[in-house]
Amino acid sequence: MNIVLLGAPGAGKGTQASMLVEKYGMCHISTGDILRAAVKNQTPLGVKAKAFMDAGDLVPDELIIDLMKERMQEPDTEKGVLLDGFPRTTAQAEALDTMLAGLERPLDAALLIDVDFDVIIKRLTSRRMCRECGYIGTAADEKCPKCAGEMYQRDDDNEATVRNRLDVYEKSTAPLIGYYKDADKLITIDGDRDPQVVLADVEKALNL
Ligand code: AMP
Repeated sequence: MNIVLLGAPGAGKGTQASMLVEKYGMCHISTGDILRAAVKNQTPLGVKAKAFMDAGDLVPDELIIDLMKERMQEPDTEKGVLLDGFPRTTAQAEALDTMLAGLERPLDAALLIDVDFDVIIKRLTSRRMCRECGYIGTAADEKCPKCAGEMYQRDDDNEATVRNRLDVYEKSTAPLIGYYKDADKLITIDGDRDPQVVLADVEKALNL
């Protein structure tokens, strides 16, 4: 199955993705995770992407599309992918359609995890991530509950940057809701509930 996870930053895409991966072994591709690793390792992509990410702006389409073209060629994508944080613009969505058509793989659904912005601002500013395993927790987690690794706050989870990321989402990414609705692929899930309850709805929607 090939799935796009849509939703504002902090809607719970990463959390749902990691639960789906754990339960069903799907191939999870998060452009945000790939970019953060590239920044950490100071690769040419990371060096180009860092300033955009720190400001909460989008990394230019060409860089992301090239990155995804390469990633989609890897053998682990053949069993289907769960795309988290990509596409984020209409140009990226069109490029994804072309990539999937070239690989003769269908897009099964675009799952919109829907959460109000005031809830998101509270969630993101208290979000913490594990440096070792990427577990997504909150400020209440002193150590990672999964691997006891160090929990840290992402550079872009401060309030000013969060507000910019939400503006960018509204302007550049929210139009994809209409894009996938027109393509008859859109499934909307209420994301303002316990992650397990959201997961149950996701499973039902995808017939898992
Ligand atoms: P995320 O972890 O998905 O919230 O992504 C973190 C940051 O990485 C975003 O704020 C962007 O700066 C960048 N990024 C991730 N995915 C994309 C994308 N598909 N297009 C452009 N920028 C992206």
